[in-house]
Amino acid sequence: MGPLRHAYLDALGIDRWVPRNAPPEVAPQGVETQSVAPESVAPESLTQASQPAQPALAKHANPRPAPLEPSTWTPLPPVADWGVLRERVAGCMACDLCKTRTQTVFGVGNQQAEWLVIGEAPGAEEDRQGEPFVGRAGQLLNAMLLAIGLPRETVFIANILKCRPPANRDPKPEEVSKCLPYLSNQIALLKPRIMLAVGRIAAQNLLATDAPLARLRGKLHHFGEANTPLVITYHPAYLLRTPSDKRKAWEDLKFARATYSRITGGGAA
Ligand code: SF4
Repeated sequence: MGPLRHAYLDALGIDRWVPRNAPPEVAPQGVETQSVAPESVAPESLTQASQPAQPALAKHANPRPAPLEPSTWTPLPPVADWGVLRERVAGCMACDLCKTRTQTVFGVGNQQAEWLVIGEAPGAEEDRQGEPFVGRAGQLLNAMLLAIGLPRETVFIANILKCRPPANRDPKPEEVSKCLPYLSNQIALLKPRIMLAVGRIAAQNLLATDAPLARLRGKLHHFGEANTPLVITYHPAYLLRTPSDKRKAWEDLKFARATYSRITGGGAA
């Protein structure tokens, strides 16, 4: 294990075995070790809502639309254009979450990415900034991805829901059923080689199961008509609250990386 990997493990907050009397190590230059120090932060301050307030993106924010009556809502057919899909999501009024959002959070990243990372739903900071996984959880996700050689900009990141549930409550089944077609459309456009679901909500909804996360981790699943390999791990917000599980998350990430290498013949991300 080289110094680069050591730096990434340090960023994840995973302890490394070091022989007694070993000389101190120097972090490689140019490697940014994300300054995530969950042990020193009170749990309540680790939520996305604890981030410094950013000015609302009023220019891009949607006015408070009225949701469509259930009887008038039907899923639209998938589109073959990222821009059209983004516009469709931005104007969506299919569920009550359109009434409380600042803006929709479409997803971010490389539209040719081979890795798709899927989370649950926007939090307060994501709702303000219009981007998934920002704030402390986003920093930790970036560190997790870097640990397996994936800078954030090389993957695509999206959520099950495109609008923030109030008070970060769990998504309701009817919200998920109305929003999932957008994620399915994103998957159809991206055609990822592998998917990484972070957190129970993402995993259970993608796999249509209520099995606990502990039973879904550590095995290879497949998603959709393309049978895309799907690996499950913890949500970084959970890992900030429970750093003792970072070791298990690291095992999941190594498993995902090994799976990707196997299906691509050892190709680069
Ligand atoms: S959560 Fe999804 S389905 Fe509900 S309003 Fe937002 S984009 Fe539409």
